[in-house]
Amino acid sequence: MARFEQASLLSGRGSRALDLEALLAQAKAQVRRGPRLKGLTILSNGLGRDSATIIALLVQGKLRMDGRREPVDPSEIDFAIFSDTGHEWAYSLIARARLGALLDAVGVAHLTLEKPTARQYRPWLKRKGAEVERLMAAGYRGRDFTNAIKSWQRDNPQPWLDQDWEAIAAAQGRDVWEVKAERGGYHRRPPILEERDTMRWGTSFMGHACTIGHKIDPIDAFLNDWTLATHGVGLKGQRDSWQALVKQGLAEKHRIIIGMAADEQTRIERGRKSMEAAGYKRALYPLSEMGISKDDEGKVLRDVRLNGERYNLDDIKKSGCMMCHYADLGFYWVLRQTEPKTFAQIAQYQRRANEKAPKWSIKGVVRVTTKRDAIPRLAALGLRAPGTPKKASRQEIEKLLHKWLDKDQALERLAKLDPQAVSPVFIEELVDDWRKKNPKATVQDVISKGYDHCGAANRCPFYRS
Ligand code: SF4
Repeated sequence: MARFEQASLLSGRGSRALDLEALLAQAKAQVRRGPRLKGLTILSNGLGRDSATIIALLVQGKLRMDGRREPVDPSEIDFAIFSDTGHEWAYSLIARARLGALLDAVGVAHLTLEKPTARQYRPWLKRKGAEVERLMAAGYRGRDFTNAIKSWQRDNPQPWLDQDWEAIAAAQGRDVWEVKAERGGYHRRPPILEERDTMRWGTSFMGHACTIGHKIDPIDAFLNDWTLATHGVGLKGQRDSWQALVKQGLAEKHRIIIGMAADEQTRIERGRKSMEAAGYKRALYPLSEMGISKDDEGKVLRDVRLNGERYNLDDIKKSGCMMCHYADLGFYWVLRQTEPKTFAQIAQYQRRANEKAPKWSIKGVVRVTTKRDAIPRLAALGLRAPGTPKKASRQEIEKLLHKWLDKDQALERLAKLDPQAVSPVFIEELVDDWRKKNPKATVQDVISKGYDHCGAANRCPFYRS
C-alpha cells in the first residue's frame, strides 16, 4: 500500500511540500518518536539471469535480504526499474515482458526508463556533433576537449528534459513519473552508441562511465523526483537534500537491490562501497546473502511456481549493451550474424573514434603508440639493449631499452617484431579471427554462455544482473 501512496505522490498533483523548515521539524519529531523518513526500495532489474533469479524468489516468497530471516514481501519493493541504454539485446527485451508479468502477478510496480526518441535527441546530438568536429579541427584533445564540450553542453541543455511533465501527465490522466520514464525524461544522455559515436569516444576508454551515465544517473534522477515530490527536497547536496537528512539521522538511505551472485564477492564489495559513498543509498545483494551462486541460478529459474502455474525461466540470457567493451568477441560475432546493421554501425563508430584516439579499439587497448607502452612489449619479445647483462632483471632490461631507443626507434622495432601491436585493430578483423578459431560455434552456443569480464565484473553493478 505504501508503495502506491508514494507513487501517487510522484504525480505532483497537489502533493508538493516545499517548506523545508516544516519538513525538518516533522522529521525531527518523527525521529524523537521513532522511525526516520522511509526511503524507497528499488529492485534494479537488469533483465539478465541474476535479476530473474531475484524476481523468481520474490514472487515465490523465498527471497531474503538485509540480514532478515523472514522472506521479503513483494509490497516492500517500491519499484523494479530497468534503465535502457538504448542498445540492449532483443532477447533481453523479451525477458522484460516475462519478468514484468511475474512482477504484475505479485503487485510490484515495474518500469523502464526509456531513452528519448530519435526525433527528440537527433537535432541536439547533430549540433553537438558539429561542435565536436569544430573542436577537433581546432586541435582540442584530452582535458581541453572535455572542458570545451562541457561548456557547450551547459549552454545547450538537452531539450527533451525540458517539458511540462505535469501538464502532459494530466492530459493523459497518468502519473508524472510514468510519462517521464516513457519519454526519456530520466536520461540526460541519448542512446549509448549514438552518443559515443558523436563524441568519438572509444569504448574501452569509457571504463565504467557508461554505467554511471546510462544506468546509475537515470535511477538517481528518478529517486530525485520522488524525494522532491514526497518531501520537497532533492536527492543530493550538503544541504536541503535527502542526503543531508540521512547524514543528520532523519531519513533512511534508499535501498537498491542488485543482482550479483554469491561467487561475485569482489564486484559486490566494490559496488557496496561506491553505493555507500553516495551517502543517500545503499546496496542489497540478496543472492549473495542467500549463498546463491551463478551455478545455482539455473535450479531456481528452471522451476518457478506461482499461483499453481510452473514457469521455466532458465532460457533467460545474459543482458547488456550490444557494443559492451567487456563482451567476448563471440558476442560481436553473434551481433554480425543477427543484427548486421547494428554491427556495421558499431564498426563505423570504432573507426571514427580511432581518428580522435588512435590507441583504442572496441575491445581494449591494442595499438601501441607510445615509447612507454612499446618498451615492455619489446622486452617481452626478447629485444635487449647492447651491454645488457645476461641475468638482468625485467626492470633493468626495460631501463636499458629506454636509454637505448627513442620513441620512433622503439615503435619501428616493435613494428618489425609484432606488426599487429602498432596497427589499429578493427572489430571486423577481431571477429573474423574469432570465427576462425571457433568455426563450429552457433549463435545459441555463444549467447547461452555468459562472459566473465563485463563491466559488472568489477564496476558495473547493473550489468549481467
Ligand atoms: S559496462 Fe557494458 S553493459 Fe554496462 S553500461 Fe557499459 S557498455 Fe553497457
